[in-house]
Amino acid sequence: MSDFCNMHILIVEDEPGIAQFLKQGLEEESFEVSVAYDGETGLECGHQEDLDLILLDWMLPKRSGLEVCRQLRKASVQTPIIFLTAKDTVSETIAGLEAGANDYIKKPFHFEELLARIQVQLRPAYEVEHDQFTLGDILLDATAHRVFKGGREITLTQKEFALLKYLLQHKGNVCERTQIIRDVWDIHFDYNTSIIEVYINALRKKLDLQKEEDAIQTIRGIGYIAKEA
Ligand code: CA
Repeated sequence: MSDFCNMHILIVEDEPGIAQFLKQGLEEESFEVSVAYDGETGLECGHQEDLDLILLDWMLPKRSGLEVCRQLRKASVQTPIIFLTAKDTVSETIAGLEAGANDYIKKPFHFEELLARIQVQLRPAYEVEHDQFTLGDILLDATAHRVFKGGREITLTQKEFALLKYLLQHKGNVCERTQIIRDVWDIHFDYNTSIIEVYINALRKKLDLQKEEDAIQTIRGIGYIAKEA
């Protein structure tokens, strides 16, 4: 999951020390990084189409971070924006989010915390691009046809794989037994759906999900749901 090469982050930060520290840290995580040292340049660079994320300082020369954020959103730029802010009053935080920022982090912060927030913002795009699905520490890579749990590869049969993929694709939604039997088993007539339970149990065992309240839950009489804890 830490494979973020080819992902491009713009840092808009006027303090050279902080900008350099962030740039170096992110480059070590395989990000491609650009830096703008004032709001005007930040706004210009923020329009670049290949950007995956913008780290935006609040207090900037020429244009404030808040203004840069508003202008970018006004121009329909959807790139995720995380504010770097020393300001921590509620009203200012709300102003930042209302201006269209996705998240904010208060200075001083630990680089690891920033990285975690960046990953939260980038994960959906990364997963769509790579045809990957996650559930807690389970990762299903549909392109590579591989499943990992906590970084350890899990061997599944074809049907187990198809069933897990189906549940993860519909994460957060109840999948009815008849739906599953139709879409995963390709059976379109009235059929005893109890076979699904056998496969669900096999999945739970292989993925070490022993408890009912775990990531794959049974909705009695209806079907199953894959749910983040
Ligand atoms: Ca600043």
